[in-house]
Amino acid sequence: MRLSDLTTLRLGGPAARYLQATSEQALIEAVAEADRAGEPLLVLAGGSNLVVADEGFPGSVVRIATRGVARAGAALEVAAGEPWDPLVADCVAGGLAGVECLAGIPGSVGATPIQNVGAYGQEVAETIAAVRVLDRADGAVRTLTPAECGFTYRSSAFKREPGRWVVLAVSFALEASQRSAPIRYPELARGLGIEVGARAALGDVREAVLALRRGKGMVLDPEDPDTVSAGSFFTNPVLDADAFTALRARAAARLGADTSPPAWPDADGHVKTSAAWLIERAGFHRGHGNPEGIAISSKHTLALTNRGAGTTAELVALAREIAGGVQDAFGVALVPEPVLVGHDWLPGVA
Ligand SMILES: Cc1cc2nc3c(=O)[nH]c(=O)nc-3n(C[C@H](O)[C@H](O)[C@H](O)COP(=O)(O)OP(=O)(O)OC[C@H]3O[C@@H](n4cnc5c(N)ncnc54)[C@H](O)[C@@H]3O)c2cc1C
Repeated sequence: MRLSDLTTLRLGGPAARYLQATSEQALIEAVAEADRAGEPLLVLAGGSNLVVADEGFPGSVVRIATRGVARAGAALEVAAGEPWDPLVADCVAGGLAGVECLAGIPGSVGATPIQNVGAYGQEVAETIAAVRVLDRADGAVRTLTPAECGFTYRSSAFKREPGRWVVLAVSFALEASQRSAPIRYPELARGLGIEVGARAALGDVREAVLALRRGKGMVLDPEDPDTVSAGSFFTNPVLDADAFTALRARAAARLGADTSPPAWPDADGHVKTSAAWLIERAGFHRGHGNPEGIAISSKHTLALTNRGAGTTAELVALAREIAGGVQDAFGVALVPEPVLVGHDWLPGVA
């Protein structure tokens, strides 16, 4: 099996061994078998957040294809292999609020806690009540509380300790309501014609999110070459107050005294800024790259796309060129959002 057939970037060489697990038992057994044999293991599901080396993976690749949704009131327990976007659509149709801004994100339910998926002012951590996992450290099945999951911006305990946990199922505590959670994202509120902080009908929110996402090539679409990506390639940098002051000074010196980078301060004094803003101001534009290989999306500077004949080596080289350019221009280290398999990120930049 070539991993390019399993990733949205359509990149990645062969798997030494490949197995698809359609039941939780088969999944647990496949993982245990690889661990007993001391074989490297890669679990994947939708392949939408993975960058796999052209050389492939020298061990077992287990694709999670488990299914099942159990609903009790506004609580759901969902098998890891369930596709995420159809679940959001069902929640919206079924009058369950809390995940409507996460419509259109590809991939599986089980991967959502890994990087605490988020978009348009919502994060999955806000509605996750528990995550059932296989702990490969001792082979036990455990149910982790949200605190144990250690969710932070685009990260979690699962991402910080890669390979240790296999997510088997995710429980959600949603709100039984036809109205959305308060809309926090200004662009989405504008699209809905409401004030930031107001609520809207669930279905309207989902449609507005999908429309915004499509405009940025962020909904998988076989007709749209800008969607052959892993979504945003870099997370938005989160800087401490001193680092943000230094960035502001660099930006003013480079771009003019009245230029200030976007700033979203958080409660503990950190400031999140925009990776796309930094990339564009460092001189990288939409479409930059190889029109037949790897290039920045023509709709969104944060997405790196495979125009057909790209390779993972080329993708990583372009990502490093961009990160190096941002580092030189602004002194900010960009961090890749997708999981790199078989490639290290730049020493000193990651
Ligand atoms: C067009 C596009 C738009 C996107 N938009 C967004 C967005 O708005 N917000 C956002 O946060 N992300 C976004 N993404 C990234 C991606 O869709 C999400 O991270 C998604 O949750 C990945 O799911 P997956 O099943 O495809 O995971 P995979 O790519 O298969 O795996 C990703 C990582 O998670 C691990 N993993 C997967 N499932 C499990 C499991 N059950 N247990 C343990 N580890 C597991 C894998 O080993 C791997 O390390 C986007 C991607 C694309 C292509």
